[in-house]
Order: sequence, then C-alpha cells, then structure tokens
Amino acid sequence: MDMRRSRKIFTESQRYLPGGVNSPVRAFKAVGGTPPVIMRGQGCRIYDADGNEYLDYVGSWGALILGHAHPQVVKALQGAVARGTAFGAPTALEVELARTVCAALPSVEMVRFVNSGTEATMSALRLARAFTGRSKIVKFSGGYHGHADGLLVRAGSGAATLGIPDSAGVPLEYAQNTLVVPYNDLDAVRGLFRRYPREIAAVIVEPVAANMGVVPPAPGFLEGLRAVTEEYGALLIFDEVITGFRLTYGGAQTVYGVTPDLTCLGKIIGGGLPVGAFGGRREIMQMLAPEGAVYQAGTLSGNPLAMTAGIATLRLLSKPGVYERLERLGAYLEEGIRSAALRAGVSTRILRAGSLLTVFFTEGPVVDYESAGKSDTAMFRRFFHGVLERGIYWPPSQFEAAFISLAHGEEEISRTVDAVDRVMASLAR
Ligand SMILES: *Cc1c(COP(=O)(O)O)cnc(C)c1O
Repeated sequence: MDMRRSRKIFTESQRYLPGGVNSPVRAFKAVGGTPPVIMRGQGCRIYDADGNEYLDYVGSWGALILGHAHPQVVKALQGAVARGTAFGAPTALEVELARTVCAALPSVEMVRFVNSGTEATMSALRLARAFTGRSKIVKFSGGYHGHADGLLVRAGSGAATLGIPDSAGVPLEYAQNTLVVPYNDLDAVRGLFRRYPREIAAVIVEPVAANMGVVPPAPGFLEGLRAVTEEYGALLIFDEVITGFRLTYGGAQTVYGVTPDLTCLGKIIGGGLPVGAFGGRREIMQMLAPEGAVYQAGTLSGNPLAMTAGIATLRLLSKPGVYERLERLGAYLEEGIRSAALRAGVSTRILRAGSLLTVFFTEGPVVDYESAGKSDTAMFRRFFHGVLERGIYWPPSQFEAAFISLAHGEEEISRTVDAVDRVMASLAR
C-alpha cells in the first residue's frame, strides 16, 4: 500500500501539532506506524492522501452512525451555512434538538448543549456537586468521561482507592475527590458509600462501557447503582456520549430500563459536528445559570450548524428498522470474526452491544478494565496492521470500540470478515 503522501503530510504535521494530531489516539501510538491522512469520506468508506480506500469502523469515534457525508445531512448543512453560522443568541434550531432529545430520553426534562462530551461531563458533575452540596464523585476504572481534571483518574488495583491523576498537570487535590472502583463491581461501590455516606455527590458511569473496549454491564449492575445512589442521596449520571442513540433511539437507559438523574450526550447528537449535551430532572437543571447559581456558558454552544446536523441525524434514526439493521450487521460481523478466530485457533473474546464491538485477544472473561488489560496487545497490533493493509480501518487501539454505521451493508461486512479471516490465519502462525 502506497503511503508516501500520508507520510509526508504527517511528518510536517508533527512540526506544528504535538504528535501530529489534535487527539492522541489518532497518532497510532498503540499500534505503531504512520496513520493514513484522510482526505474525504463517503458512506462507510474513507480515502487517504494516496488515494487508498478503507472500510471505516471508526466513524469519527461513533458520531457518524449514518456514515460519512450522508446526503440529507449535507443538504441540511448547506442550507444552514448560508443562513449564518453562529449568532450567540437564541435560535429555533436549539429548541428543536432539545425537544427531540427530551422526547427520546424520558429522564431528560431539560437539556443544555455544549461543544464536546468533555464539557458535558464536567458541567454535569459541577451541577451534581451543587445540587447535593457534596464534593466526591465515583467513577469506574477504565471509564472515560473526557479530559476534565477530576476525571483523568485511574484506579489502583483491586479494591477502592483514592484517585491518583492519570495525567501530568492534574493537581492531586482535584483527583482526590475522585473515587475509582472496578466496573461491574457493585460491592465496591457500596463499600465507598458506607465509608463516605454524606460526601459522594454522584456516581458517573458509561452504562455500556466502550472506552476500555466494549464491556456491557453485568445483570443488576446499573439497577444496583440506581438503588445505592438513591439510598445515600447521591446522583446517578449516565455518560451516554457513545451509547446515546447508538443502541436504540434513546439511550442505554432505554434499553436497560434504569433512570439516571443526569445524562451526558455527545457524538451522535451532533451528527459529526462538535456537540455535547447534558440534561436531566428539571429541579436539577434549573440550578444552571441564568436560572440558578451554577455557572456554565459557551460562545458557540447550541451552534446552528451543529444543531442542524444533529436534527437531521436524529430524524433519520427515528425511522423504523434502523436499530434492527444495526443489530443484524453487528451480529453478522461478530459471528464472522468469531468463526475466523476459531478456525485459526486464535484466542479471542468478542464483546458487542448492537453496533459497538471489540475483539479482545484474550482467553479469560472480560468484565472490567483489569480483565480487558489481559489482552495480548502485541497480537492486536498485528491484527490491526493486517486488516489495515487489506483496506479495513479498525480503531487503532485494543481498548476502543469498533463502530458499525447504517452505511455499512452485508457486502462490506462480508469483505471485512474475509480480511479478518486471512489475518487471523497469519496470526496463528
Ligand atoms: C468521547 C467520550 C467523551 C468525551 O467527548 P469529547 O467530545 O471527546 O470531549 C466522554 N464520554 C464518553 C463515554 C466518550 O466516549
């Protein structure tokens, strides 16, 4: 595969952009090699600077559930851009997207739009702290909620530990208000509440974890979080930045029947433009400025282009059969990869929730960050480059989800499975 142009551009980009990127995973550090520099996308395909074509399983990290440059989204955006790109004043578009989101997620009575998922989780936590008058939060090891200071915290091993920062530049004082426990470990959460009965403002969780690879919640886990937060007067925050409108029209909360106090959204609701949102019960949301005392603001928040892309995307997602199709494609891909791995004798655990899927190169069960971490990342690296050479753009890390879009079809999945089949055979040797 000719990569000369990509290499040239990426070499220059490293002079001006740290690591050559604006978000770390794009630099391929986990898998090595030079990332293709992408020039355009259409449907489920992307094209790099050398003209190579790839079937895309990243989809802008899940935002593009309709695929790239969907005609109806493009058309809506072309209309919107000609009417002006930002006003810093109320618009009807933000009302329309807010109404749509509130109708789809019954736990969300009011919503505020922001520009990224990071802003959404950061602001939701500020609100939860104001509402409860408490400081500590609970998150799960391997749960990603954007890059706000207090959320860049990993767990120590095993039992509950006080947070230590995952990044340089995060003051220990911030991180120490973040308590971290293993995903799917309800007893550990209960233990924290017994230890700090009046100090925990909120538990924040990805209802289906998708940033340690895909790890679905164990039966009773989300229900248990709901019960224990209620018992101790803390808020339950679902970070549905990935799962919102990914698993169904609504959120994981719709699928699992568990109602959080606050919900964070992003990715899909922006239709590929920069958007985040947080919302929830009216009495909580009314604490936000200008109605209440919790300050939160944004020059471009509720941006007309982003609202337009979101409205067009959700309209298409509300059509019948959409999520059944994604489930069918997901199952087809899962089965294909599983058979290929079995034939080759390569140990894998394939975890999937609808159109989210991770192939873990491990024998043991994957239920949390620690067990996910037992994957053979060297094997993943070979898998990744093997499929990339065959025109499959898989997420460049073992601990990310692959995203199927509505633009994928059985033919593309079948081509993917053929490529995986050959790569698995080569891994076994
Ligand atoms: C992507 C993501 C975020 C952060 O969103 P950004 O728009 O990248 O800031 C937060 N939470 C989850 C679950 C995510 O997947």
